[in-house]
Amino acid sequence: MSPSRLQEKAIDRDEIIALYVWAPGSCFRCARREVDSAKLGTIDTPIGDRYEIRACRSCILDLEKERQRQADRRGENYEPGQLGNNLS
Ligand SMILES: [Zn+2]
Repeated sequence: MSPSRLQEKAIDRDEIIALYVWAPGSCFRCARREVDSAKLGTIDTPIGDRYEIRACRSCILDLEKERQRQADRRGENYEPGQLGNNLS
């Protein structure tokens, strides 16, 4: 935890990418298939099917950037690598 509220240290792409586990899959956000993607969550349907929610690298980076902006606006600490934890 940084005591600085200015979030001056930019989190770089490689740092964010290292926080996720990557495997080939489809991105829920941009619909690209068979790209390196990280699992953000799963959806279980009433009939017992399970779908994985996955996002590709560029979408993960976009989503992290968005979270960082939101955290800055609210004056909260931004912690990368938490995207999957926010889906429930
Ligand atoms: Zn994508």
